Amino acid sequence: MPLLDARQRPLRDLRISVTDRCNFRCTYCMPKELFGPDHAFLQRTELLSYEEITRLANLFVAHGVEKIRLTGGEPLVRRDLHTLIAQLREVPGLKDLTLTTNGSLLRAQARKLKEAGLQRITVSLDSLDDETFKRMNDVGVPVATVLDGIEAAREAGLGPIKVNAVVERGVNDAGMVDLARHFKGTGIILRFIEFMDVGTTNGWKLDRVVTLREMADRINAELPIEPAEPNYRGEVAKRWRYRDGSGEIGFISSISQPFCGDCTRARLSPEGELFTCLFAARGHDFRTRLRDGSTDAEIAAFLASVWHVRDDRYSEIRTAETNGSVPRVEMSHIGG
Ligand code: SAM
Ligand code: SF4
Ligand code: SF4
Repeated sequence: MPLLDARQRPLRDLRISVTDRCNFRCTYCMPKELFGPDHAFLQRTELLSYEEITRLANLFVAHGVEKIRLTGGEPLVRRDLHTLIAQLREVPGLKDLTLTTNGSLLRAQARKLKEAGLQRITVSLDSLDDETFKRMNDVGVPVATVLDGIEAAREAGLGPIKVNAVVERGVNDAGMVDLARHFKGTGIILRFIEFMDVGTTNGWKLDRVVTLREMADRINAELPIEPAEPNYRGEVAKRWRYRDGSGEIGFISSISQPFCGDCTRARLSPEGELFTCLFAARGHDFRTRLRDGSTDAEIAAFLASVWHVRDDRYSEIRTAETNGSVPRVEMSHIGG
């Protein structure tokens, strides 16, 4: 039986952040000034091991999770990630196993990930303009490296591939149409994400958000698009299609059109804390239970107790007062 929360939402998706480290310093996620050489990242012993993650994955899937997404930080900086994928592939009942990456290490790893059993992949790419992209990742990685990573994923048969672009007004919004044109007709699905007020360090301001409505209008003015039906209830991205039949494009509108009513996602941090909302201030400690001899039944009961009382709907109740007033987990910690 699927677990239902206090708003009757089932537990269906699990996002697992495998590391809080990243080889990028995207200005909207891990600004350099705050994630510098002195930043205290988690130590190895604090991280859940691959065996611990797999044990939890089995329990979560037994309680309704159908889809697992690996994320980070940058998941591909965690050593031998393909061995975790091979373990997760064996979880009975898991329908979908995917991963979100910045793409910079994909050329080296795509084949291994596919062979281990990864099905699909999402790659983040915010601009096709080198200067803009380098300014955003803030470590000087050129666009070509990520495009080559996407190509490597395609060659390895990881598909369908999705590309995520966070849009920040005055930073990369001028390049939206270029991105759309580049991926139109390739089978790769581009999704534009509204800049979100996650965490407390990224200097979020409402006037930096380009809403779905404006994004769609700006794309439509050059490349005509129309709304399409969602694939399933709770789909995060709003689907639109090109009127000329050359494929689809998506928008993730958690600011202007929140989708909390259908939110079926739980998020596991690298050190084993479960967050029931992207905007939660604190998580629920599974690592202690994994390490203190608790049985599977005891851990499952803890999961049920956490999920049953889940009442989160931050995006629907966001106001000027709630934004920034409470400490929140960072995006780079739980992976979006
Ligand atoms: N490092 C990987 C990557 O960049 O794809 C995975 C982790 S990253 C936190 C996951 C996604 O969150 C990325 O697509 C990233 O662009 C997005 N993201 C990070 N900060 C964001 C913000 N403030 N608003 C909207 N999306 C954000
Ligand atoms: Fe790293 Fe991804 Fe955050 Fe960029 S968005 S800093 S690549 S975790
Ligand atoms: Fe889900 Fe929280 Fe986002 Fe609402 S704000 S959609 S409850 S993660």
